[in-house]
Amino acid sequence: MAEKEGMRSDAGLKKSSADRSRSDIIGRIAVLTSHFTPMAPEKEAALAATPSDAPTIFDKIINKEIPSIVVYEDDKVLAFRDIAPQAPVHVLIIPKIRDGLTGLSKAEGRHCEILGRLLYTAKLIAKQEGLDEGFRIVINDGPKGCQSVYHLHVHLLGGRQLNWPPG
Ligand code: 5GP
Repeated sequence: MAEKEGMRSDAGLKKSSADRSRSDIIGRIAVLTSHFTPMAPEKEAALAATPSDAPTIFDKIINKEIPSIVVYEDDKVLAFRDIAPQAPVHVLIIPKIRDGLTGLSKAEGRHCEILGRLLYTAKLIAKQEGLDEGFRIVINDGPKGCQSVYHLHVHLLGGRQLNWPPG
């Protein structure tokens, strides 16, 4: 019986070392393919961007110096279609006055009102865009979060089945 138990645990050990080498191989393949898979342009842009409080392209969009397709505007918030849509509906919702909000990680107590307003506006636009079956809100933050524009913005994505987990 003890022998049988021993045999069983040996077999278990063999199996787990086989599992380990299989996951080693899978890991190596992942590393190798990462050298050949071209980086998504959004990721490339995010890695090239330096976190900063310098003016961004969104200032020019707010000031209408460069064109955008505006889907919603009020005194505090502007929402326009993303130039490189990742879904049939891809809208960016931004505060008109950045007030230090280069990203969500810079939020302070005084920003609670505008943060709530951005989310509520996202809900209004989702309704306006007919996203009755669901949508997704994304806020990228910092280089690891793939943020490329340092003026806080909420992505509203919808119009297709979205997948989980995100990349
Ligand atoms: P982030 O990567 O910082 O979360 O998102 C920035 C978004 O801004 C990206 O999805 C990018 O496509 C969008 N974007 C960058 N430049 C422009 C532009 O000039 N016009 C518009 N409409 N979207 C832009």
